[in-house]
Amino acid sequence: MTEQAKIAYLQEKIKEVSKKKRSGWISTAVGFILAIMGYALYIWKVDYYRLTALGQEVFLRSEYPYQLGGILAIIAGIALTAIGFVENIYCATQEAKFMEQLRLMATTIKCPKCGKQILKKTPYCPFCGKPLENS
Ligand SMILES: [Zn+2]
Repeated sequence: MTEQAKIAYLQEKIKEVSKKKRSGWISTAVGFILAIMGYALYIWKVDYYRLTALGQEVFLRSEYPYQLGGILAIIAGIALTAIGFVENIYCATQEAKFMEQLRLMATTIKCPKCGKQILKKTPYCPFCGKPLENS
């Protein structure tokens, strides 16, 4: 792979992971909201009263009609948050790695003799002593 092609490849990869990183953030945020909504459903209470002959309200019972749905939403929300978070961390790590490679490529070359990574604009290779023209 030529240097130009490798730079283009790395730039493409960086674009890709930063897009994935954004989708990881979205998953995290959506999952968090889902979990909160799930909790709200879980604690959703409906009270039932009975009217007496004298017109007084007597408490009968409370029901939690959305408890199961709430639990499912909480589980889904937490899972989504966790997946998004892991994706995010992973993509941030990848992004940093690609950026570092790009930075190295911009500031270093490979010595034509020994193949070690050396700084550009060095008169001699510090490893094997080969004189370099691109200084
Ligand atoms: Zn060398």
